[in-house]
Amino acid sequence: MKRKSFIQKATTLAGGSLVASPLLAFTERKKTLRVAHLSDIHLKPGMEPEKGMAKALHHAQNLHPGVSFIINGGDAIMDALAADKQKTATQFDLFKTILKNENSLPVHHTIGNHDIWGWFIKENRPEDDPQYGKAWVVDTFEMKNRYYSFTQQKWHFIVLDSTQLNAAGGYIARLDEPQLEWFTKELESVPKDHFICLVSHIPILSICAGLYFEKTEANGDLMIKRNLMHTDFLSLRKIFANTPQLKCCISGHIHMQDELTYQGIKYYCNGAVCGNWWKGAFNNFEPAYALMEFYDDGHTKRTIINY
Ligand SMILES: [Zn+2]
Repeated sequence: MKRKSFIQKATTLAGGSLVASPLLAFTERKKTLRVAHLSDIHLKPGMEPEKGMAKALHHAQNLHPGVSFIINGGDAIMDALAADKQKTATQFDLFKTILKNENSLPVHHTIGNHDIWGWFIKENRPEDDPQYGKAWVVDTFEMKNRYYSFTQQKWHFIVLDSTQLNAAGGYIARLDEPQLEWFTKELESVPKDHFICLVSHIPILSICAGLYFEKTEANGDLMIKRNLMHTDFLSLRKIFANTPQLKCCISGHIHMQDELTYQGIKYYCNGAVCGNWWKGAFNNFEPAYALMEFYDDGHTKRTIINY
């Protein structure tokens, strides 16, 4: 029996009332927004990365039903943090070329730590260069800002900038003050009947972040490093608790995958397109991207695709 006629029959059996049919309620919820989340491509010149990126893009574009857009989850290129200007330009140019030639879907970009130029250059750090830091990646990907939002159907996507320079060295995962202020206002502006998905490069909450090094501390503690998960989670969760529309958070960065539910919110850490930086699997996680399905009742579903 064809699905449609089965539903019609079931509706008739239910007394002809459209509202009364649980089957119809089920089909209504089936209405989804489908999105491909490709994180940690880590593109660099070479056969494996170039072909791999193109393959993942083609795979995402050939899904049935099709996806509405792609989210680049960040760490698009191998590294700009410690790379000189020429090497950074080569990587960004290559990424843009492959994206232009191999993809026709809209793309929303997220900044990853490795997309930031020059923070870790040891000598003659180019701090006065207009492209220093996040300016280059924002410009390259024509982003509205380093953090921004957009709406598709009933879903409001807020793309965050996870990576902040840490005074004590390296980088730290958190929202800086101006971003936090913007973010709080942004959440308040979302209509009550809409749903929110947060997109961040570094996970806001993740257990993989604590398993990344596959070891415990000498005293037995299992640690989560400041650059592997949002250090402001404890304060963010208070804001989240007052935001019933917030249903899910998606991230990359860890090159591993997990799926958590914490206080009614789903947290998906979606692995890496490059796997182990284009050398197979990382901690047993094969190269992958995620198909995210956003239902119009606020539910979400993730499918990991080892493309
Ligand atoms: Zn990263």
